[in-house]
Amino acid sequence: MSYSNLRGHCYCGAVKFEASGQPVWVGHCHCESCRRASGSVMTSFATYHLDKVKFTGTMPARFPTDDGVVRSFCGHCGSPVAYESSNKKNQIDLHLGLFDDLEQVKPQDHTYYAEKVSWLQADEHLPKRT
Ligand SMILES: [Zn+2]
Ligand SMILES: [Zn+2]
Repeated sequence: MSYSNLRGHCYCGAVKFEASGQPVWVGHCHCESCRRASGSVMTSFATYHLDKVKFTGTMPARFPTDDGVVRSFCGHCGSPVAYESSNKKNQIDLHLGLFDDLEQVKPQDHTYYAEKVSWLQADEHLPKRT
């Protein structure tokens, strides 16, 4: 699998990014906060070191919460863009659905699998973390 520069953008195209090199993690998250923040029953991310990601359009709007998490989104169209946490210093989780070429960033596992919606089935063959 080659991880040259991968591009992505939000629904309206205002927020654009370029991510270089190999992601730290690509996977699905089933936690309740991602579910509510994204409006989706499962959320998928590609994690990169912050210095490997360059925003090339409008900077995303940021929504910090008191647990040290900042979720960002397009201030124009509302697409969720990223998750950053003080527990994962210098890393950024980009919402996978924004990438142009999803064949280049395949999920490797599930996290918060214990919170998964019972009727949801996706990538069940991948390792599961609770
Ligand atoms: Zn947008
Ligand atoms: Zn989550």
